This record gives sequence, C-alpha cells and structure tokens, in this order.
Amino acid sequence: MNNIIEVKNLTKKFGNFIAVNNINFNIKKGEILGFLGPNGAGKTTSIKMINGLLKITSGEILVNGMDANKNRKELKKIMGYMSQKFSLYPLLNSLENIEFFGGVSGLSRKTIKKKEEEIKNMVDPLLLRQNVKDIPPGIRQKISLFVCLMTDPEIIFLDEPTSGVDPEVRRNFWYEIYDLKIRGKTILVSTHNLDEVEYADRILILHHGDLIVEGEPGGLLKKHKKNSIEDLFKDAISNHEQN
Ligand code: ADP
Ligand code: MG
Repeated sequence: MNNIIEVKNLTKKFGNFIAVNNINFNIKKGEILGFLGPNGAGKTTSIKMINGLLKITSGEILVNGMDANKNRKELKKIMGYMSQKFSLYPLLNSLENIEFFGGVSGLSRKTIKKKEEEIKNMVDPLLLRQNVKDIPPGIRQKISLFVCLMTDPEIIFLDEPTSGVDPEVRRNFWYEIYDLKIRGKTILVSTHNLDEVEYADRILILHHGDLIVEGEPGGLLKKHKKNSIEDLFKDAISNHEQN
C-alpha cells in the first residue's frame, strides 16, 4: 500500500518542554491506524500538527507528497478532523452546527440542505433541535462525526471519538469507522480504550512524546509474546519508563 502520510523526525516543543520527540511513522492509504498512549503522550499535538493547526518545531509532514505546513488550503479539502473537545458549538443545536460548519467548509446551500435531510433520517429530529450541550453524548458523537464527514474527506482524523460514551455506542461508532475504510478512506483514530484496537490495521503507541511501539496488532502480540494489547501496552510503557 502507498503511504498517504509520511511523518519524519517530527518534534514539537512548548518552551523547553518536548511534547512530541522526533517521531517517524507513515499512514498507508486505506488503513485504520490506532493512535494509542496515556494522557499527555502527545497524540493530540501530533494530530494537530498533521492537520496544520499547530506549527511544528522541526521535522517534516508530507500528505500526498505535499508539505502539510505549506499546502494547508489544498490539503484541508481532503482532510477531516474531529477534535477531542468542542468539536460542536454547545449552545447551538445540531442543525445550526451543520449549517455553520458546512458554511465554513465552503459547502453550497444546496449541499447543506441535503446534509440536514440526511441527518434527519439518522437522528430523532426533536433531538436535532436541542442545544448540543443537552443531547446525550452518544448522539453528540454521531453528529460530530457527521459534521467531520460532510466534505467527504479522503483522510479522517478522529481524536478520542469514543471517550465518554457507553460500550454499545462505541461499538456502533466503530462500525461506522469500519464502513469508511470499506469506502476507501484512510483513518487515524486515537483512543485510550485498548479493547478497540482489534479494529485497527496497525497501531502506534506514544508515551511522553516518544513513539514506542508500531505494528500490526496480531503481529505485535506474537512478537512480544503477549495475549492482549492491554498487556503489551502496560509492558511497553513500564519498559519505557525505566529507560
Ligand atoms: P494527548 O493527546 O496524548 O493526551 P497532548 O498532545 O494533548 O497529549 O499533550 C502532550 C503534552 O503537551 C502534555 O504534557 C500537555 O500538557 C502538553 N501541551 C499540550 N498543549 C500544550 C500547550 N499549548 N502548551 C504547553 N503544553 C502543552
Ligand atoms: Mg489528546
């Protein structure tokens, strides 16, 4: 498979603090990449840099062979980003959010109307008219994903999309993610729910800004003689802490 994204020697410093420490990895076209790591590992910072939302300190990010920092406008059209927090305006209702983000993304009135009809077939229209802050987290995630996908992006970044929602909602969410893969999309999903990575083609584990594990889940379990990703994760983190 081709690499749609190449991350080379990527570093982010906030003052003297190194949030992302010289990491290297690729994302292959059409894969689901699981981005793992405890809180503060550097996941969000990395995702934001790839999306051009945060300036890199050093290194290089290529998306479709183009420098992500220099081709922000062009790349924005093919990338979708669902942020960890505040991805919707809490004091607007879902339809208003769709109108707002559709407009910001440059969708036509006609397309936005079409999207509103689409969502009305997926979610109870009464819920769609309540302020986002008052609707159940599971529905909020659904709407956030819908908004992220409105521009039909080729590469999709989901930053902890399943945190704070119950297991059934999480499962359904992953079915949707899997469906996107079947439609040929490339997806990076960060999570700290380790049981979810069975859906990922490959995983990366970050810790204190370092990339400490990279590989395909089954292969990694074999290589490290582990029965679960949870064991692998714990071991990798404690080894890294001792170094
Ligand atoms: P993760 O998403 O894996 O939980 P983050 O990328 O959000 O981790 O954060 C990585 C580290 O960088 C954390 O220690 C965090 O406190 C720090 N950090 C993130 N953003 C900033 C910022 N704007 N200024 C200073 N430190 C930051
Ligand atoms: Mg984060």
